[in-house]
Amino acid sequence: MFVIVQKFGGTSVADSAKILAAARKAIQAKREGYDVVVVVSAMGHTTDLLIDLAKQITDSPSPREMDMLLSTGEQVSVALMAMAVHRLGYEAVSFTGAQIGIVTDSTHTKARIRSISTDRLKKAFKEGKIVIVAGFQGVDEQGNITTLGRGGSDTTAVALAAVLGAERCEIYTDVDGVYTTDPRIVPEARLLKQISYEEMLELASAGAAVMHNRSIEFGKKFLVPIYVRSSMTDSPGTLITTEPESWTQPVCGAAMVKNEARITVQRVPDRPGAAMTLFSRIAARNIPTDMIVQNVAENGEADISFTVFRDDLPGALKAVAEAVQELGAGGYTYDENVSKISIVGMGMAQQPGVAQKMFAALADRGINILMISTSEIKISTIVERERAEEALRAVHEAFRLDEPPETLRPVQPPAQPSKAKAAVNYAARMAGMEDLIITGLDLDESQARITLAGVPDRPGVAARIFDQIARAGLVVDMIVQSVGREGKANVTFTIPQTDLDRCLQAASAVAKALGCPAPSSSPKVAKLSLSGVGMRTHTLLVRRMFQCLADAKINVDMISTSEVRFHVVVEAALGRKALDALKKEFADVLV
Ligand code: ASP
Ligand code: MG
Repeated sequence: MFVIVQKFGGTSVADSAKILAAARKAIQAKREGYDVVVVVSAMGHTTDLLIDLAKQITDSPSPREMDMLLSTGEQVSVALMAMAVHRLGYEAVSFTGAQIGIVTDSTHTKARIRSISTDRLKKAFKEGKIVIVAGFQGVDEQGNITTLGRGGSDTTAVALAAVLGAERCEIYTDVDGVYTTDPRIVPEARLLKQISYEEMLELASAGAAVMHNRSIEFGKKFLVPIYVRSSMTDSPGTLITTEPESWTQPVCGAAMVKNEARITVQRVPDRPGAAMTLFSRIAARNIPTDMIVQNVAENGEADISFTVFRDDLPGALKAVAEAVQELGAGGYTYDENVSKISIVGMGMAQQPGVAQKMFAALADRGINILMISTSEIKISTIVERERAEEALRAVHEAFRLDEPPETLRPVQPPAQPSKAKAAVNYAARMAGMEDLIITGLDLDESQARITLAGVPDRPGVAARIFDQIARAGLVVDMIVQSVGREGKANVTFTIPQTDLDRCLQAASAVAKALGCPAPSSSPKVAKLSLSGVGMRTHTLLVRRMFQCLADAKINVDMISTSEVRFHVVVEAALGRKALDALKKEFADVLV
């Protein structure tokens, strides 16, 4: 039998008419011959109202009781949805997460799914019933009700699709699908026909809040085709799968995280373990770090910059103050009025000049870039918050994201690459369905590094540097711009070793024109890349990675992180050693 999972969000079940409309969609799939699971969210703003009620009683409700409370919202929806199906003349049965056997860990209010049993679902299918399941909730091994975190119904739906081997998971919501950027800010934004899991994950962490990120991780790990579409129309929406919409288009989307804060720790002694000390202090306070940028050291000292959500700034500053003490670092600076603007696309890795184009778009508007970090499929910049929306529009326009790509890939179910298949098999063996997996650990020894130190921190500088380099026909790999001191920034990038001489010439010319010191370089560096699923949500990973390198006495020269990949650059001679250390450290989760 073929299974379809359909998920209806809060706005799609906000009143009785909408519940009936949703029930009709489920019945239609049933009539087409599918076994149907319907996952529902709480009606409208129910969850917010419940949170508000709790707040009226106490400022610090017990997380266990919070879950007890919040799970009631979805319980209301499932019962009504089952009644709606009945009224339309079909059979249906509703279940809570606990009843269906969604077992989670015990982290109340943000529990992770460990396993799902399919017995009860399959029995109901045999009886010809449409199965209605409460989203966002589960039960821990001690029988306590848990919830998966705000927006978690998406994750319930894709997880159910994964364990049932569903043909697809349909996410019905109040938007038509996934857009190239937020249409409320950029009205020209285009609806994507298709997007890859990786792009979707990067866009979500870059600020596009279309779906619960963990649901995409489930999709990627278990190869579930996910359709995001409107519950009000019959439009096909966006398919999230292994392949991008187009390989010829370098960028598929742009996004903004509006409220970020930037912190720079200055003059960190350049020795193994320094980054570890800093980030474990922050992790100890449970504060997620977003963009981490470490530039090459000068005089045995490096500056490390990173961003956090603005709300987390006070806590992060406390952690930083402690770390500065412990490390004997020079001090720290911060800026609480910044935003992150990112572009994402699987096609960018193959094409020269993508970063340059983004920097030029910002430079043309006189928007200063405060920080840069790149990975294979994402380029992120930090800009002043006041200019952020304008920056997003500029970038969207520069890449003509409003126009469909020339060569559209046919929208098709994913071909299963062997690595991804291995991941599926591996995940099946794991203790918990949401456990971290590392799918790739690579060492690239073909790169050289160039650093421009003390470049003026004003609009157009990055554009100028990378324009010169692009003009010389050179393709840059990893770019890191960190916040410097006294209005100066440092820009470091890696390039193929064979291009070093030509690139140095171009870089020297720009340095001279900008009135800054001659570039420094290293003819050979080792770049280590770690890719996987759940890298960002498993916050301990960063710490484990830095700890392991510190234990091996390996100094980290450059860092850049994204949702699906972490990169560190170390001295060439230490590349092998670093790779072995990481392999050993992550042996248990490496696919
Ligand atoms: N009702 C929950 C929330 O509002 C879960 C969900 O809607 O996905 O966060
Ligand atoms: Mg939702």
